Amino acid sequence: MSRLLVSACLMGQMVRYDGRAKILIHKSLARWSADGRVVPFCPELAGGLSVPRQSAEIEPGYDGNDVLAGRAKVVDSEGADVTEAFVFGARLAIDLARDRDCTHALLTEASPSCGSSQLYSGHHDGTRRDGFGVTTAALRSAGIDVFAPSQIESLAAHCAW
Ligand code: SF4
Repeated sequence: MSRLLVSACLMGQMVRYDGRAKILIHKSLARWSADGRVVPFCPELAGGLSVPRQSAEIEPGYDGNDVLAGRAKVVDSEGADVTEAFVFGARLAIDLARDRDCTHALLTEASPSCGSSQLYSGHHDGTRRDGFGVTTAALRSAGIDVFAPSQIESLAAHCAW
């Protein structure tokens, strides 16, 4: 059975850096969940980070592919290099997606892990830029289509479930 990897915070799990969730309420997501097709996952927790934690951003001008290739770091708001945890969490996302037959992913926008078209600037100044996160890059490299919450109607059209 094909499934959907979903950011755990969208499913109501309080795993964000600030200890909150970012719950997404949508009829399609509710149906997929009831049908057992949702696989919730938080790559930052899986990678070894805790809740709460400092917010983190990919260095300015880089994206998730650059982090996976070792060209860029993920740095938290106190200046600590947390790249290793982000890369480890992204690798675990691929393993889980393959193990649970996830063909698509629905991930929280602008996260340095889960963002699919936007990231924060890397200057910890609250501004956004185009880009995508480390887990999104890893999943895409494994052939898994990644969608943002704003694209859930398009995702539903892709999934004939
Ligand atoms: Fe949500 Fe992804 Fe951040 Fe975890 S890493 S809190 S799943 S956006």
